[in-house]
This record gives sequence, structure tokens and C-alpha cells, in this order.
Amino acid sequence: MITNDIELTKIFLDNEFIIGLPTETVYGLAGNINSDKAIKSIFELKKRPLFNPLIVHVKSKNAISTVAQSIPDTAYQLAEAFWPGPMTLILPKKSGISDLITAGKPTVAVRVPNHEKALQLLDILDYPLAAPSANPFSSISPTSAEHVHQYFGKSLPLILQGGQCAKGIESTIIGFQNNQPLVYRLGTLSVDEIESYLGIKLPQSTNATDSPEAPGMLSKHYSPKTPLILTNSIEEAIEKYANKKIGLLTFGPHDLTYPCPIHLVLSENENLEEAAARLYAALHQLDEVDIDLIIAEKMPEIGLGCTINDRLMRASK
Ligand code: AMP
Ligand code: MG
Repeated sequence: MITNDIELTKIFLDNEFIIGLPTETVYGLAGNINSDKAIKSIFELKKRPLFNPLIVHVKSKNAISTVAQSIPDTAYQLAEAFWPGPMTLILPKKSGISDLITAGKPTVAVRVPNHEKALQLLDILDYPLAAPSANPFSSISPTSAEHVHQYFGKSLPLILQGGQCAKGIESTIIGFQNNQPLVYRLGTLSVDEIESYLGIKLPQSTNATDSPEAPGMLSKHYSPKTPLILTNSIEEAIEKYANKKIGLLTFGPHDLTYPCPIHLVLSENENLEEAAARLYAALHQLDEVDIDLIIAEKMPEIGLGCTINDRLMRASK
């Protein structure tokens, strides 16, 4: 069921069921952080490996101290500047936080989502919500309630309707080493923006790729069922795969003579924010068409373009 009813959603959560949660980034599969039953259901429904931790969603920055401790000053500054918003902080966890949520790590991932419905819901709950993206493990993240329903059908009894996700790509994850911030995962909030706010360059966590330290960085992730290649030159790639039924995904408009069954343009005006917001919906749409291959155009390597390229790269593995 897809519903607008926040009170009903609360009843499901209070009874340890999990629900589809709208956020500004992507939809989440959410449960009460204090219910082992709910948290186990998230892993089971998603077929997510237990080494892959969940993000805890709290209603306000004041609530971080309910799940984290020894919080670096920079974390407070970032929370002040960017919450509610698409930035997740990795902080030392409080002892009561379930090892299932943190995959046994001493840290917990936490953020305040910037979505009216999500905030209204969190406000009436007596507990935060743990939620990963609401897609089967390694598939494309959902950016509408309908995507979530397509993935899970009746196995997920309630999805809170929150419309299309305004941002459309997961949160940017920032961790700390010796109280110094570093980027764990590129996301909707561009690293440039964080760097110019803090006035420092942020190193990227190097234990990325297939390390369980940062599973959002698994090399294969966010994948459509159709094979995808990422290219700087659409024309050359089309020539190379001319014998195949090609679906095209480009940043802006392209005049092409080759007849492709489907060509999706992420942003007519080549706006990176718009392209990011549409990316996953476009991948879902391409996956529904009878094609052999998706050829995706690389975005300019600036700001959100880096994040989109990161997702397309993982989708191409
Ligand atoms: P998802 O919302 O599906 O992208 O999943 C949440 C992501 O948050 C995980 O894949 C991890 O990359 C990241 N994450 C959550 N908790 C931690 C943690 N304690 N340390 C490092 N990364 C984490
Ligand atoms: Mg995910």
C-alpha cells in the first residue's frame, strides 16, 4: 500500500514493521532503531549482506547525541550548516545502538533528511529510524514510491508517499579520522560545497572499493539489469556497438543520426542538479525497454558531475 497517512505509518513502525520512507535523496527502507525484529527485516527484504551498515535518520541535529558520542566540533559545524540535508556523518556510536545497524562497527552513520513527510514522521516517533536505500542489494536506488512498490510488492506492506525525490542521489558521507573530516562516499551534497564551507580540502577515504568499511562504495552498485558502458564519446561508442540495440543516456541534447530505440536526456540545459535528480529514474526507465546495452555519457568532472560519474561507473561494472 502506498499511503499519505503519517499516523498509520507510525502504527506500523510502533509494531516493529518496516516501511518505505521518502527522503530528498532516495526512498529508504525504514525501521525503529530499537527493534531488532525491524532491523533484521530490512536486511532480509533487501538481501543486504550483514556487513553493510544502515544510516540512522534523526529528527534534528540535537538528536545526534542520542545515537552518537565524542562528537568532533567539525561534525557539529557541518550539521549546523547542512542539516536537514543530504549529508551523513559517521560518528562514534553510543553503546545502546544495535550492532546490526552498525555492522559491528564502533561508529554509527546519522543524518537529518530534508523531506517534509519524513520530518513530520520522525517528529511524532519516539525513536530514530534506521534506513538504507529501498532497493534490493546492488540494484538502482528508488526515487519514487512506485519504484519501491515495483521492487518489493506485497512484501513491503506500507510505503509513505512523498513524491519524486528532489535530489535523487544518495547522501554524501563524511567520516572522521583523528577528528579530521574525510569523504567516505560522494553524494548529493557536492564536496566542493563542504570544502568551501570549512575552508579546507577534504581527503577521500582510500579504503573504498570492495572494503566493508564503506559498503556504499562497493565497486558494483546502483546497477541496472541491462549492461551499461560509460563513455566520453557517444559517437565512438555507438559506432563500436552498432550491431546492438542501444539505449542512450546523455547529459544534454545530442543530434545523432543513428536510430536508437530510446534516448534519454538528463537535462536539456545541461544542469547538473537536474541531471542528478533524474539519473535513477532514467536508469529505471531504460531497464524497462528491450535493449542490449545502455551507453551513458560521462558528465563534466565538477561538483555533482563527479557524483553522477561515480554512480555510472559502479553501474557499469
Ligand atoms: P545506503 O543508504 O543503502 O546507501 O546504505 C548506507 C551506507 O552508509 C552504507 O552502504 C555505508 O556506505 C554507509 N555507512 C553506514 N554506516 C557506516 C559506518 N558506521 N561506517 C562507514 N560507512 C557507513
Ligand atoms: Mg543503497
